[in-house]
Parts: sequence; structure tokens; C-alpha cells
Amino acid sequence: MEKKYDIIFIGSGPGGYTGAIRAAQLGYNVAIIEKYDVLGGTCTNVGCIPAKALLDSTEHFHQAKEQFKTHGIELNGEISLNFTQFLKRKTEVIGQNTAGLNYLMRKNKINVHRGTGSFVDASTIKVSEGETENTLTGKYFVICTGSKPSTIPGVIIDKKRIITSTEGLSLPSQPRSMVIIGGGVIGVELASVFARIGTEVTIIEYTDSLIPTMDRELGKALFKTLGKLNIRILLKSKVQSASNTGSSVAIKYIDTESNEQEITTEYCLVAVGRSAYTKGLNLEAAGITTQKNGKVTVNAQLQTVVPHIYAIGDVIDGPMLAHKAEDEGTFVAETINGQKPHINYNLIPSVVYTWPEVASVGQTEEQLKAQGIEYKFGKFPFSASARARAAMDTDGFAKVLISPKYGEVLGVHIIGPRAADVIAQCVIGMEYEVTAEDMYRISYAHPTYSEVLKDAYLIASGQGAINI
Ligand code: FAD
Ligand code: NAD
Repeated sequence: MEKKYDIIFIGSGPGGYTGAIRAAQLGYNVAIIEKYDVLGGTCTNVGCIPAKALLDSTEHFHQAKEQFKTHGIELNGEISLNFTQFLKRKTEVIGQNTAGLNYLMRKNKINVHRGTGSFVDASTIKVSEGETENTLTGKYFVICTGSKPSTIPGVIIDKKRIITSTEGLSLPSQPRSMVIIGGGVIGVELASVFARIGTEVTIIEYTDSLIPTMDRELGKALFKTLGKLNIRILLKSKVQSASNTGSSVAIKYIDTESNEQEITTEYCLVAVGRSAYTKGLNLEAAGITTQKNGKVTVNAQLQTVVPHIYAIGDVIDGPMLAHKAEDEGTFVAETINGQKPHINYNLIPSVVYTWPEVASVGQTEEQLKAQGIEYKFGKFPFSASARARAAMDTDGFAKVLISPKYGEVLGVHIIGPRAADVIAQCVIGMEYEVTAEDMYRISYAHPTYSEVLKDAYLIASGQGAINI
């Protein structure tokens, strides 16, 4: 049976579902193809949402063990983790989100086709699920098939002992020990989850810093705070191989002194980045080829070489972030509709959900130096914030980078409590090109975490800090 649609989205992650909803709101007849039983893609099922659920649970556990006493809260009896309930709650949170997506598909009259989408030609796609096959034709297509975990030479993911974040979010029991290869975003978030519940965690990172693509001061500060969770962090260390020996994994790596070392651990979690995923899509039939790294090339309108086929999210260049995929989904729907939407790729915030959280927007100091751009900076610590002291959350700082001439804000880098939410105001400010003076003259509620920003702007502008 052949079905005709205006727009067909292939993949139901944040890119696909956001784009499909916006397109339906604009009056198009929309279909979404998803090869898994559930909607939501990586983010909802094996990414952002389950990771944040486990991060929140373990942060509560950690606080109960380490901080409650100081708050005067006495728990009479041992505090222990029910691992089964811990994972059950995470699964329930995913369920609430996928139920929400099912509702939104129905509400917006979006036709969901279960199965793997594979192009027949540039206007036709076949959807196969087992023996069932459907053929759909579309005026427009949007490739939003996302990404899958990558690995490195010498390390083969067996999903048993040598695992990725996907398996790491659903382990059968609490691991005694875990080596994480890669000190990027997944590495530090999952290291926090497991270290807080008592797993002996080691991170092996190839570069000289954690979260190396962010402003380097953030990585340094994070190194210190993760150290407080007893996470062993090996920087400038290169993994050579990992072998599953049955009940454990033997990992060989070259350390900073160029010596070969070996560690044995219960699990080895590989977090060295993700690769674009287009397997099974049969892109060639539509006249599309991929780059060497597997990504689909698009122009500024997010069109592939075939103008009525667009691509968005992790499958194209740019940061692999859920909100970037969402923004691109909306962008494509509105572009097809003849509107002139806009995405400012320089102002897509990055957040790391450790505690304290890390959040950034705009240029890093390293980027400004590399481009020879002059800047002034203001940095203010959370230890000087009344709100942070009341909450016993005094680790971290906010750093703002501004242009010396007009005080335009060039970058904001925060490590501290609720940095993930505090960064939103910086995105607004930078999008509308406000100056540091504008930012310190507005009123900040007291006491709040965001006040550290006011002081950072004051300092960057050559004024003294005034808040405590
Ligand atoms: P995806 O979410 O990967 O969705 C693609 C969908 O396409 C999948 O459902 C897949 O099954 C389907 N598909 C693929 N091929 C086909 C086909 N041929 N036919 C039919 N369907 C197909 N980002 C953040 O912004 N914040 C976070 O906190 C965050 N945390 C993360 C934590 C982890 C552990 C991981 C792994 C990622 C995290 N990310 C986070 C990244 C985020 O998940 C991705 O950037 C986002 O999911 C990308 O969205 P997408 O729509 O491009 O693709
Ligand atoms: P990443 O790119 O953030 O980090 C990979 C790390 O692995 C880097 O620090 C890199 O130097 C290191 N590395 C590479 N090769 C290595 C080797 N041989 N030995 C040791 N270290 C090595 O990738 P990730 O952490 O796997 O995350 C994948 C994607 O998912 C990221 O692009 C990220 O944007 C997204 N994500 C986002 C969030 C969030 O927004 N909070 C959370 C998780 C994942």
C-alpha cells in the first residue's frame, strides 16, 4: 500500500519529533518513521533523560550520606541504595516522556510508521518491520536518524563488559568498579552517577583536560570537584586495548610518562564520542552520499544535495545536542513553509549535568586567543554567594568574557549550582547583543545563584563586586 505525505521525518528523536509537530501545526500532512518500538530517539530512551534521572537520584543519595548531618537531618539507620528501584524510577521517567510523545503525535495527527526507513528513490521510502512493508511518498523528507556510540582501535564493544552509555544506563546490578574511556560529557556524567553510589571509578582521558572542548578553566575546576567523589582521573593517557576476560576487563594504556600500564575492572564504559547513523537508509538511492565521518552534508537551509531532502540533528555537522536537533527540526518545518527562521549556532548553550553543573555559551578564552580577539574577563566564585552558602554549594565560579570597546558579551562559562538554568539568561543577553553594563544594571533577585553573574559582569567592566 502506498501512502502520500507532504513531509516525512525519518527518525523520532528530538530533531524528528519537534520538526514533525511544528510541520503539523503549520498544516502539513506529516509522517514520522521510527525503527524502534518507542518514540523519542537517543535523548528520551538512552541519552539525556535516563542519564539525568540517574544523576538526580544519585545526587540525592550522595547528599543524604554526606550533607544531611550538617543540615541537622538525622537518619536513624543505614542509608542504602535499592539498585532495582533506582533503575525502575529511571524507566518510569522515560515512560512518562514517551507517553507524552505518543499523545503529541495523536494530538497533531502525525502518522507514525514503525519500521526501518529505506529510500527507494528521491521521492519514495520503504518502511520495513519484519514481514510488513509500506511504501510512502513525500514532497519533502527530513533525515533525522541521529548517532550511535563510536569506539577506538583495540576496543571492541561487546555490550557485556565493554559497554557504551546505553548499557551503562541499565546495568543488571551495581558495579564494583568501572573504567570510563573518555573524559568528555558522557564520561564525567556517568562517572558521577557511579562514583556517588560507591563504584570505584577511573576516567582515562586522552587530552590534558576533562571536557576539553569547553573553556579550559571549567575542565580544571571539574577535575577538582570530581576528585572529591574519589574518581581517579588519568589525563594525557591513551588506551591501547580492552579485553573481556569473563568476569572483568583488562585495559592497557600508555600513561603520561609513555609507560604501558594495565588496569583490571568489572566494566569498561567507552565514551569517546558518537558517529552519525545512516545505516539501512539507502541514501544512494536518493542521490545522497555521506562524508568520510558518516555525516550528511547540508547547506545553510539544511538541505542536502537533493533540495527537497533535508537533514538535521546528530546526523549533520555541529554539536550533538538535543536542543540543537530540536531547533533544526523547527527550522526545517518553517523553511518549507516559506518562513525565514534563524539559528545562531554560536549561541547554542552546552551543559554538563555533573554537580556542580557546568554551562557555557559563546566563545571560550582559548577560541578568543586563537583568533587574536581582545577581551576582558570577570570571574566571581560561588563561595562568595550567600545563596550558595545557604545551600552548602559553594564550589565553582562564573566567568564572563567581554569586548573591551563596547562591553559586548563574548562568552559566559559557569561551573556551579544550577548553572544549567542560569545560563539561559546569558543566551538571551548575547542573542540581543546586550553589554556587560546592561547585564549588571538589571535587578537580580537576592539571594540567587544568578547574582554571581552580576558580580562577574561588574568585575569585567572594571567595577568592584558588590554582592555577598
Ligand atoms: P536521535 O535522538 O539519535 O534519534 C534518531 C532516531 O532515528 C532514533 O530513534 C533511531 O532509532 C531512528 N532511526 C535511525 N535510523 C532509522 C531508519 N532508517 N528508519 C527509522 N528510524 C531510524 N543532549 C543534550 O542536549 N542534553 C543532554 O543532557 C544530553 N545527554 C545525553 C546523554 C547521553 C548518555 C547520550 C548518549 C546523549 C546525550 N545527549 C544530550 C545528546 C542527544 O541525545 C542527541 O544530541 C539527540 O538525541 C540527537 O537527536 P536526533 O533527533 O538527531 O537523533
Ligand atoms: P565527547 O566528544 O564529549 O568526549 C569524548 C572524549 O573522549 C574526549 O574528551 C576525547 O578527548 C576522549 N577520547 C577520544 N579518544 C580517546 C582515547 N583513545 N582514549 C581516551 N580518551 C579518548 O563525547 P561523549 O562524551 O562520548 O559524548 C557524545 C556526544 O553526546 C557529545 O557530542 C555530547 O554533546 C553528547 N552528550 C551531551 C550531553 C549533555 O549535553 N549534557 C551529555 C552526554 C552526551
